[in-house]
Amino acid sequence: MNVAVVLYTSDLRLHDHPPLRAALSSSHEVVPLFVRDRGIAAAGFGAPNRLAFLADCLAALDSGLRERGGRLVVRSGDVVAQVCAVVREADADEVHMAAGVSAYAHAREERLRAALEGEGRRLYVHDAVVTALAPGAVTPVGSDHFAVFTPYFRRWSEQPPRAVSAAPRAVRVPEGIGSEPLPGRAAVTGVSPGLARGGESEARSRLTTWLRDGVARYEEGHDDMAGDATSRLSPYLHFGALSAAECVQRARTAGGPGAEAFVRQLCWRDFHHQVLAARPAVAHDDYRVRHDHWRTGAGAAEEIEAWKEGRTGYPVVDAAMRQLRHEGWMHNRGRLLAASFLAKTLYVDWRTGARHFLDLLVDGDLANNQLNWQWVAGTGTDTRPNRVLNPVRQARRYDPRGEYVHRWVPELADLPAPEVFEPWRLAGLERARYDYPDPVVDLADALGRFKRARAVS
Ligand SMILES: Cc1cc2nc3c(=O)[nH]c(=O)nc-3n(C[C@H](O)[C@H](O)[C@H](O)COP(=O)(O)OP(=O)(O)OC[C@H]3O[C@@H](n4cnc5c(N)ncnc54)[C@H](O)[C@@H]3O)c2cc1C
Repeated sequence: MNVAVVLYTSDLRLHDHPPLRAALSSSHEVVPLFVRDRGIAAAGFGAPNRLAFLADCLAALDSGLRERGGRLVVRSGDVVAQVCAVVREADADEVHMAAGVSAYAHAREERLRAALEGEGRRLYVHDAVVTALAPGAVTPVGSDHFAVFTPYFRRWSEQPPRAVSAAPRAVRVPEGIGSEPLPGRAAVTGVSPGLARGGESEARSRLTTWLRDGVARYEEGHDDMAGDATSRLSPYLHFGALSAAECVQRARTAGGPGAEAFVRQLCWRDFHHQVLAARPAVAHDDYRVRHDHWRTGAGAAEEIEAWKEGRTGYPVVDAAMRQLRHEGWMHNRGRLLAASFLAKTLYVDWRTGARHFLDLLVDGDLANNQLNWQWVAGTGTDTRPNRVLNPVRQARRYDPRGEYVHRWVPELADLPAPEVFEPWRLAGLERARYDYPDPVVDLADALGRFKRARAVS
C-alpha cells in the first residue's frame, strides 16, 4: 500500500491543490500534515491576527478533509523532524509540498530533501501553488527576474494558464497516525476586534460574491477609501485558502474592465513573489541602495510611536493606522499613504514600518509587505523612487467627503471635508473643540529634508 504525505504550508485548501492531487494519484493513502513550525514562531512571525486566522483555516481544512473521509494531522516542533517522524510512522514513500519563495522556505526545502533522501524517500516540490505563475517561469533577457512590473505583466499575461483542478472527492488517511488537537482561535490573545474569519469555505464564498457583485466596480472604485470596494481576499490568498490561479481564471471568465484590473493586481502579487524568490535577502536589505541615513534617536522614536498609534495629526494617515489596529487589515490606498508618511515624510527606515505591519496585518506576507514597503520607500522597484505622497492632497482625492476619516477618527466626526483633512488650520476656539493632536511634522519641512537626503531637487 503506497502512502504519501502532503505537507501544508501557505496553501491551506482542498481545491486546486497540485501537491494533494499528485499525492492522491500516486498513492493509495495520504497524510495531510500541518506542522506548527517553531522556526516560524522563533523568527517573530507568530502575530496574533495571523495565528487566529490560521486556526480558522486549519479547522476548515480539517472539516473539508473529514467530509471526504480523511482528516488533518497536526504536529508541532521542528518542521523537518516532524515530517520525518510522520513519514516513518506512516511508512510513506514520498512527501509533496508547495514551493515557497523566502530564504526560510528555500532552506526548509533543502533540509527536508536531504533528510528524506537520507531515508530513501522522495520530496516533490510543486510550483505555482502559492502564486498563479511560478517565480522564474518568465524572465527578461540577462536576468533571473523582472525588476519592472509592466514588462512582467505583459509576459505573465501571455503565459498559457495552468489547469485549475477541483477538490478531490475522497481522501484516505492511514489509521493510527496521531495528531495534536487543532489550535483554536479562541486561545489566541491580542487579536484585532474586527478581524475577518478565515477558512476555505469563507474564502470561496467571498470570491463568488466578489466576482458577482463587486468586481465590475473595481476599476473605478479601488481607490475610494470609504467605499471599501476592493475584494478583501488578501488574507485568504496569503494562507492559500484560495488559489491565485483559480482567482485569475474565474476573474478572466467573469470578464470586463473591473475583472481585468483585478487580475492585474493579482499579477502584482506574483511580481513581488518572483523578486523575493530570486533575491531572498530583500526581505531585509534594500533592493536598490539609495544611501539613506534614516532618522533615529528620541525625536524619531516619538514620531514612530505616534504613527503606530494613529495620532500623527494627519487625519487620513491616522485613520489608516487605526483601521490596521482594529481590523488587522488596511485599504491599499491607506497602506500607500501610511508607508509614504513613515518612510519619506518622517524619513524613518522602511524596515521599522514593515515590521509593525507584519505584527498586525492578517495578510502580512514577506513578499508583498517587504517589497511594497520598499516600493513606497523608493528602495524597491518603483520607477519614481523619490515621489512623496502628500497626505492632505491624497485625502482630498481618495476620501473626498471625509467619510473614511470620520469612520476611523471619531474625534473629528463632526468636522466636514475638506477642513477635516487639516484640522490644525482651524481658528483657536474652533480648534480647541477637537481632542486631536497637532501635526508631528510640517509637510514642507519634511519634504525639504527628504529631498536633501536623497539629493534631488
Ligand atoms: C506598504 C504596503 C504593504 C503591503 N503589505 C501587504 C501584505 O503584507 N500582504 C498583502 O497581501 N498585500 C500587501 N500589500 C498590497 C495591498 O495593499 C494588499 O494586497 C491589498 O490592499 C489587499 O486588499 P484586497 O484583497 O482587497 O486587494 P484587491 O485590491 O482586491 O486586490 C486583489 C489581490 O491582489 C493582490 N494585490 C493587490 N495589490 C497588491 C500589491 N500592491 N502588491 C501585491 N499584491 C497585491 C492581493 O493578493 C489582493 O488580495 C501592501 C501594500 C503596501 C503599499
